[in-house]
Amino acid sequence: GNISEISAARRNGAEPTLSFEFFPPKDEVGEANLWNAFEKLLEVSPDYVSVTYGAGGSNRERSLAVVERMSKQVLTIGHLTCVGATKSSTLEIVKFFEQVGVGAILALRGDSPKDDPDALSKGELKTALELVDLVREATDLEVGVAAFPEVHPESPNMEHDSRVLALKQASGAKFAVTQLFFSVQAYTDLVASAQAAGASLPIVPGVMPISNAKQIVRMAELSGAAIPDELLAKFDQAEDEDQAREIGMAYSTQLAKDLVAAGAPGIHIFTLNHHAAALELARGAGLCR
Ligand code: FAD
Repeated sequence: GNISEISAARRNGAEPTLSFEFFPPKDEVGEANLWNAFEKLLEVSPDYVSVTYGAGGSNRERSLAVVERMSKQVLTIGHLTCVGATKSSTLEIVKFFEQVGVGAILALRGDSPKDDPDALSKGELKTALELVDLVREATDLEVGVAAFPEVHPESPNMEHDSRVLALKQASGAKFAVTQLFFSVQAYTDLVASAQAAGASLPIVPGVMPISNAKQIVRMAELSGAAIPDELLAKFDQAEDEDQAREIGMAYSTQLAKDLVAAGAPGIHIFTLNHHAAALELARGAGLCR
């Protein structure tokens, strides 16, 4: 199966897709956390999962090993970045993904790592669009791409991102998954802008369960997403971390519900390799079957 067929089938049944994102663990403790979270989250029958890939190939072997193992149990999207990479090394990974039978490749540019700020200019592929073209030439595997409700940090405006998204669709991308964001409006604006630019592919919103106020503020800063004043004000009123967690979880659960009501094809949950908050969000938003 592939991701767009599953999305279409769910759309016909007016059911949103449910998917979970994981990252490759850095050590043995992380490894145990990951597989524990994965097993628990499989119990609610996600349509697919995805596995991130370190820009510059820093965690290449670990990422591919996780993709291989997950693929045996559930439809899996392998993320792939091209920053700093050669075409031949990239094609080797595409071949590996084909062999293990991934459901799709999420074709991303990635960012230059801090310890190698010139990686982008040194690599053979400069944009995700070039990666989409390379992957499409090499394989029939489905290709997805990134989308940015809060506008990509290097982009002048949303219209620019939307033109890029339309080019990716023209090159064969079949779906998009978004960066994290915190308001339904940001998502519906993105979809409208994409459609105006001719990008009609399904755009799956990525939602972060907010179980930790401090962590979400840090992640928002990293991704350039704005946390709404309304949520910040609620966090300020929280008396302790438990209350802040409740506020954050209620907020992200409502966001997921509102996104589905606004027509999102599904919800992609960033798990951070922990199951509890992801499950709470999936159940609370009525995404479990
Ligand atoms: P691009 O599409 O290349 O865009 C980068 C910038 O260049 C944008 O501003 C865009 O507007 C501009 N641009 C691109 N093409 C053109 C063009 N032809 N003409 C003019 N302007 C252009 N990073 C990782 O390292 N590993 C991961 O696993 C990972 N997973 C992600 C998953 C999701 C769902 C998302 C949303 C992001 C993920 N990222 C990951 C982060 C991503 O790599 C960064 O956000 C990166 O800065 C942009 O990637 P991109 O694929 O959108 O790049």
